[in-house]
Amino acid sequence: MSDYFEEMGWTPLRDGEAPNSFLHMARLLRDFGMWDELGLGERLPPPASKEAISNLKDIKFDGTCQQCTVCLKDFDAASSIKSMPCRHSFHNECITPWLKKTNSCPLCRYELPTDDEDYELYKKEKKRAVQREEDVKSLHNSMFS
Ligand SMILES: [Zn+2]
Ligand SMILES: [Zn+2]
Repeated sequence: MSDYFEEMGWTPLRDGEAPNSFLHMARLLRDFGMWDELGLGERLPPPASKEAISNLKDIKFDGTCQQCTVCLKDFDAASSIKSMPCRHSFHNECITPWLKKTNSCPLCRYELPTDDEDYELYKKEKKRAVQREEDVKSLHNSMFS
């Protein structure tokens, strides 16, 4: 039996050598899309709050040929169109299910408020971190310019 393995280029593990099973598992996870579910990839933001969804503005079809980027169909007079605060507009039946999955505009990632306290906290922290960085930058500029 050992001859067969040697012919295939298989070498037994030496003392202290571990099989590379972690890498193998990581590949498996990635290939089966489980990477994201485990929170290892980029996490999708939580759904928009019900209030934010119901506050979306209804807009009337005004003849300018615009397309809904969710379903890639043009709007027409029969469409019920919702406008996001970022001014991107989508069919009501397209954007509502989308926002029940994640809070951001499919086009520009503009984020609506969510009901998820953890996420709102995380967003605030992120904003604060950016602000701090800007403060440091402007301080640096004021000292060296
Ligand atoms: Zn649509
Ligand atoms: Zn947008």
